[in-house]
Amino acid sequence: MSCIFCKIIAGEIPSKKIYEDDDMLAFSDINPMAPVHFLVIPKKHIENLLVMEDKDALLIGKLLCKAKELAKQQGCEEKGGRFVINAKSDGGQTVDHLHIHFLGGRSLGWPPG
Ligand code: AMP
Ligand code: ZN
Repeated sequence: MSCIFCKIIAGEIPSKKIYEDDDMLAFSDINPMAPVHFLVIPKKHIENLLVMEDKDALLIGKLLCKAKELAKQQGCEEKGGRFVINAKSDGGQTVDHLHIHFLGGRSLGWPPG
């Protein structure tokens, strides 16, 4: 297995875990771009949103619901933040295992560079 996020799920690479259940894992980004920056990933290896199958819709919905809950837990309910899913090279995806970023705790510019 070469996927680093699958290795994190398997416990072969350490992570700062903030939530785990049968379907997903959430952990702090190793290179935070904002005071609050965590990732929510499915335990199932799905490369990106472009290859996601419709049958995974419920799973993706659960990830988003959990990302929202964790963002609120981390103090970002009032001012909000950004939920991001990068896909493939033009999206700047560097890890080919679907993940939702949440960034908060500071004002974020738009549009992205
Ligand atoms: P992306 O560019 O959307 O593919 O995002 C991948 C993210 O994974 C980046 O923000 C990285 O900082 C983060 N990342 C890579 N390796 C690790 C790791 N071992 N633990 C936590 N986050 C990681
Ligand atoms: Zn993987």
